[in-house]
Amino acid sequence: MTGGLIDTHCHLYLEEFDTDREAAIVRAKESGIEALLLPNVDTTTIGRMLDLTDQHPDFVFPMMGLHPTSVDGGYAKMLSETESWLGKRTYCGIGEIGIDLYWDKSWLKEQKIVFEEQLRWSIDRQLPVAIHTREAFAEVFDSIHKVGAEKLTGVFHSFSGNKEELEEIKKMPGFMIGINGVVTFKNSRLSEVIAEMTIDRILLETDAPYLSPVPYRGKRNEPVYIWKTAEKVASVYGLTAAEVAEKTRKNALNLFRNINKNV
Ligand SMILES: [Zn+2]
Repeated sequence: MTGGLIDTHCHLYLEEFDTDREAAIVRAKESGIEALLLPNVDTTTIGRMLDLTDQHPDFVFPMMGLHPTSVDGGYAKMLSETESWLGKRTYCGIGEIGIDLYWDKSWLKEQKIVFEEQLRWSIDRQLPVAIHTREAFAEVFDSIHKVGAEKLTGVFHSFSGNKEELEEIKKMPGFMIGINGVVTFKNSRLSEVIAEMTIDRILLETDAPYLSPVPYRGKRNEPVYIWKTAEKVASVYGLTAAEVAEKTRKNALNLFRNINKNV
């Protein structure tokens, strides 16, 4: 087989995998997954994420960033600690970063400062961004345009927007959308929305341990389940799951940096 499938967003270093992390990696590899990209959460997860990277340097590739739900009044210290890690290693991207107004709206101003600062890091270091947006598309678009959409590349991870929001992303050629198990949910309109996007701007992801695709919905997610998402995306484009794996793999390798695989 040529290449494989790339899970562009999973948190395999979290405690949900403490009892079977290595087995989950074996299951992923045996199914034809070639690489896992690991977005960071905050300063408490960096050690675990980098330990896992050191154990599997040809299979897992880390990003560095500060997640919006970890931002509060004490953000400055966390942000500078996060930045200090950027100089110490290579990363495939800056992530995950963004704005989340679902859980808590009280730190919007701080979330914007932190998001925009990390967008600037990505420009300075020529790394793509993995963006988390929850009930905050307008705010996220505003920050991107303020910092400079034409200078940025990245992915709207766990994209679940509507057609209008997709149109805004389509106007920014440096950006792709990341699709996960949500597309398989019965009540989701996402497959209709993504039909409006060309497949060369689609990435596959799990967001494991969260958002398991059907028929595993409600259970812990893991990378091997990404094939259920690949099958659903394949049905949207009239392709096979293997073709979707190959095309989205290429997209991932074109977007992310420092992954030692050939396009
Ligand atoms: Zn995530």
